[in-house]
Amino acid sequence: MSDQPHIQSFQPPHRTLMGPGPSDVHQRVLDAMARPTVGHLDPAFVGMMEELKTLLRYAFQTNNDLTFPVSGPGSVGMETCFVNLVEPGDKVIVCRNGVFGGRMVENVKRCGGVPVLVDDAWGSAVDSGKLEDALKANPDAKVVAFVHAETSTGAQSDAKTLVEIAHRHGCLTIVDAVTSLGGTPLKVDEWEVDAIYSGSQKCLSCTPGLSPVSFSARAIETVKNRKTVVQSWFMDLNLVLGYWSAATKRTYHHTAPINALYGLHESLVMLQNEGLENSWNRHAHNYQALKAGFDAMGLKFFVQEDQRLPQLNAICIPEGIDDAEVRRRLLQDYNLEIGVGLGDMAGKIWRLGLMGYSSRPENVLLALRALDEVLT
Ligand code: PLP
Repeated sequence: MSDQPHIQSFQPPHRTLMGPGPSDVHQRVLDAMARPTVGHLDPAFVGMMEELKTLLRYAFQTNNDLTFPVSGPGSVGMETCFVNLVEPGDKVIVCRNGVFGGRMVENVKRCGGVPVLVDDAWGSAVDSGKLEDALKANPDAKVVAFVHAETSTGAQSDAKTLVEIAHRHGCLTIVDAVTSLGGTPLKVDEWEVDAIYSGSQKCLSCTPGLSPVSFSARAIETVKNRKTVVQSWFMDLNLVLGYWSAATKRTYHHTAPINALYGLHESLVMLQNEGLENSWNRHAHNYQALKAGFDAMGLKFFVQEDQRLPQLNAICIPEGIDDAEVRRRLLQDYNLEIGVGLGDMAGKIWRLGLMGYSSRPENVLLALRALDEVLT
């Protein structure tokens, strides 16, 4: 038997989270999570699940019946979309302009699908002309997948146009909205998106670990008419449906992360009270303030202005500056977390998130003051 450890309760430091997620979590959300745990089939909890679905439909701007939070981080939402809609041998066009498009390719391969890549430079939006060409060259393609808000670079793609092109060529669409939901306009029904997933820890400002998803009637039909069984038991929508369907028919599937769902409920109530459009406008407004400061400091954005995400600002690290040392000082002296560059962008860019509750004037001022002091 190993020795008994003498470890104390964990006391995390108070940080200001201005990286690519998680974002700052409001005390109201933390308080909600500390409420008493009830059974996951308790009528009170089942009632809250129904409210969660209503709140998520508002956030996604959809009437899709199958709209619910998957018990798992954004990557599980991503896999839920791919394992259900992609069968072995299916051709899937993946638009890749950063890390998360690359992760989609991995998903397609692991489902036994055949990925066809539409590559764009990191920092650029997905080129709709290239997607059109790929669809003409691959008339047997079944699905088009792309990332609406590429968190690795801060580039935003024109989801409405990409979905419209995909449908014209008879394809279903899978859209990654992990960083866009709540922060920038996203209209699932108006744009006719088929399958979409997001994350709780970005512009919804909940704790990480939940992935809101929504599926159109056409997507559900496709899942129901599969020739093969979905290879994941946990993510098989045919089974999950029994748990998240009408409250009267609910049956056990897995034990829901009860207190985490209280937190998501609270963050969505806050979004509802603010109003979705007001939230989009707040994100745009605080980005403008950050941009004015960066312009004055001579810091350059990585993404061209008309393709930038207001909630994720990638800036080029100035020549001769020690990336790690700057981030160390920001964390140590200002309790401020900013994000590193991923993959090829490591050491070249910083990523400053203004997501959800982190998108506040005081955070903009803190980041500008801290960076100005550390860089001079
Ligand atoms: N997709 C995008 C665009 C993301 O930014 C992220 C996380 O940063 C993910 C997917 C994966 O989400 P998670 O880290 O919650 O699994």
